[in-house]
Amino acid sequence: MFVELNELKGFIVLLEHLENLDEWIEISNKFSCSFILDSDKEISTLKELFNNDTFFLKKETLLPSLDQAMSHMNIEPFETVVISKNFEYLKTIQNHSRVGTLYINSTLDQSQVGHMPDYYLKEVKDIIRLVKEYPGYFAEVNTTIINQYGESFSNNGIVFEYFMEYKGLKLKVIAGGRYYSSRHYFKNRVHQLSHRIIRSKSNDSQMDLFNGIFSSIIKSLNADGVTRVPPRPNGERDRFRQIVELISAETNTINCCDHLKCIEDFPKQKTMTNQESRSINVEGKFVSSPDCRGKKIVLIDDVITTGATVGECAKTLLASGANEVVIVVLAVNQYDPIFPVHEKKFTCSICGEDLHLRLFKNGKGFMYGCNNYSRADHNNSTPVFYKEGWEQINSQNILKTDDFEDDEHLFF
Ligand SMILES: [Zn+2]
Repeated sequence: MFVELNELKGFIVLLEHLENLDEWIEISNKFSCSFILDSDKEISTLKELFNNDTFFLKKETLLPSLDQAMSHMNIEPFETVVISKNFEYLKTIQNHSRVGTLYINSTLDQSQVGHMPDYYLKEVKDIIRLVKEYPGYFAEVNTTIINQYGESFSNNGIVFEYFMEYKGLKLKVIAGGRYYSSRHYFKNRVHQLSHRIIRSKSNDSQMDLFNGIFSSIIKSLNADGVTRVPPRPNGERDRFRQIVELISAETNTINCCDHLKCIEDFPKQKTMTNQESRSINVEGKFVSSPDCRGKKIVLIDDVITTGATVGECAKTLLASGANEVVIVVLAVNQYDPIFPVHEKKFTCSICGEDLHLRLFKNGKGFMYGCNNYSRADHNNSTPVFYKEGWEQINSQNILKTDDFEDDEHLFF
């Protein structure tokens, strides 16, 4: 997981049948490759066509086959990306191994986005482009490694889209990446976008970055207006009102914040786990004005979990005459993995406590610090910068699944 593309050393290609032969040959001439296939027969024919360094293997059991390919190529899991068209294979691999994963398929569905692989491409031919054009790409492009000097983000994000079913509606959702809560111990420790989303909950320091992500997606949609999930009438902060204003200016769309309102408080969605109970929780809680009639409206939010809240808002807008509603979110919440226990802890050299990923006060770069990092006895210690930290995490093989921070409130 989280292979930085300029540090990538090899691909392991896991396919039932090797189609697009010319494209795979081209890839294997540029990158170290192993192919794991279902049949011996195909392998002997293929060996003739590929260069001598390419390794072929018949799949026996999934994970041992990966280990075998990695040891043949002499690379570490975190230098490896496994490519497959079989989503279930990648899901298993993501839960048990620390390789990066790349899913190739023309479409995604709602059942898959909660287990998103590290990379998603529609076609094999895009693989070379991915590696060449996105140096530094590290899971989500909009979370490209940002150094201590606050190197700016790239807006060439690899964004994924899918259709969500909600009360008989089929709604298009476009997501800028994934969200890992603190229960994903390992991934949460390195995932920049997740930490930026947590930070944005309490202050607006990520506004520029999020405006960039939202606006770059929305520009391609030809929308008439943009709005957000409105705050509940209990005094909740209208977190996205200001960003909608920026987006509407940037994308030349109407600011529709005043056209969608929440009229009645409801218990937080995090207390319910499935879409059905969450949709009952929010049913009838929103109203929309007829100003949206005939318009294509973009509805933005930070994290989508079951989609009940955005679904209900979209339903409300459509019922009052909106022509189309497209949901654009920063990230899709990821389901729990089944990681093995940790081996070594990533700890502070002064007090021995766990190091957590932290955003700098200016909101631009990342560092790792313990809970005491601002204490006087820590002042002279050099912070562990982001890249150095995740390299250490990768090499120390820290895998553990306990919670260290309550961010459940993000899921609504
Ligand atoms: Zn410390």
